[in-house]
Amino acid sequence: MSTPELINCLIIGSGPAGFTAAIYAARADMKPVLYQGSQPGGQLMETTEVDNFPGYKDGVNGPQMMMDLEAQAKRFETDVRTGWITKVDFSGKGDVHKVWVGEGDRAVELHARTVIISTGASAKWLGLESEIRLRDIGGGVSACAVCDGFFYRGQDVVIVGAGDSACEEASYLAKLCKHVTMFVRRDEMRASKAMQNRVKSIDNIDIKYNTETVEVLGEEGVEGVLFKNNLTGEEEKIDVTGFFVAIGHTPNTGFLAEYIDLDEQGYIIQSQPGTSITNVEGVFWSGDCADKVYRQAVTAAGSGCMAALDAERYLAAKGH
Ligand code: NDP
Repeated sequence: MSTPELINCLIIGSGPAGFTAAIYAARADMKPVLYQGSQPGGQLMETTEVDNFPGYKDGVNGPQMMMDLEAQAKRFETDVRTGWITKVDFSGKGDVHKVWVGEGDRAVELHARTVIISTGASAKWLGLESEIRLRDIGGGVSACAVCDGFFYRGQDVVIVGAGDSACEEASYLAKLCKHVTMFVRRDEMRASKAMQNRVKSIDNIDIKYNTETVEVLGEEGVEGVLFKNNLTGEEEKIDVTGFFVAIGHTPNTGFLAEYIDLDEQGYIIQSQPGTSITNVEGVFWSGDCADKVYRQAVTAAGSGCMAALDAERYLAAKGH
């Protein structure tokens, strides 16, 4: 067996956190290698207009911003690779950390002096059997309006959720679809007032409060949704062909659980607040995998910078 490649600075994840870490690490001559994971570009690939990232005075769309970040990281010779880190062994106590790219027998072992975790977070689902089954067969259940809304042009859809994401996605869908019904489980939304006002002002969005999904109906594809009013218990059916879920995210940290301290929701615990240091020496966090409060592209990018600087100092202290 050949000796595993030794990487100076391994970055896992390709959202604004990972690419910003790469830009800083590459410019500090740390020779970063960045693994993109299963969703290159991260959550911003699912966003339309980003109007709040400083510097883009006229706004920018999410995928364009990620292409710009990737190009910037590559300009300083970041080695950007495709691959999914499936396993880690961080028991090396401050020397090299082991990670594996790929699944099972075909997994390739890599060694890294520093690891920056920028794996972000993934969409949550309601967990209904009918929802998951129809999602898995590509039958009209989606957590990404921007990716899939196109398929429902001129049709009626339901979207579940009441945060900023749900409002953003409902507004997006309203432009394509004939009618959008939003299911909000409480008597008010969690979204910012501005986002709430936006959806309330759109004629073809109907907001149903105190409403929960009972079942997504249809065998080969979505044909309707059975829902209930959670105050009265009264059930009703609505005919739709698309069912969108926008109820938040889960951090992508499951593969780290044996070594990295995670909170009850799976977010990496920030061992030393104000830094990107984790409980394992040489392993740093950046972005949404450790941030359940701010979750913005700009805060992810900021923490990517912190992680690269912390990793640089760590390597210098080790004499590398
Ligand atoms: P949030 O966690 O903010 O909201 C999740 C929503 O889903 C809540 O309204 C919650 O209801 C609802 N929900 C959760 N579980 C269920 C369930 N099982 N059934 C029905 N409803 C459920 O997530 P978002 O993804 O909306 O936003 C994440 C972060 O990103 C926020 O900080 C947000 O501000 C930010 N963001 C900002 C944007 C912008 O500024 N342009 C755009 C998008 C996101 P309940 O309220 O009852 O708990």
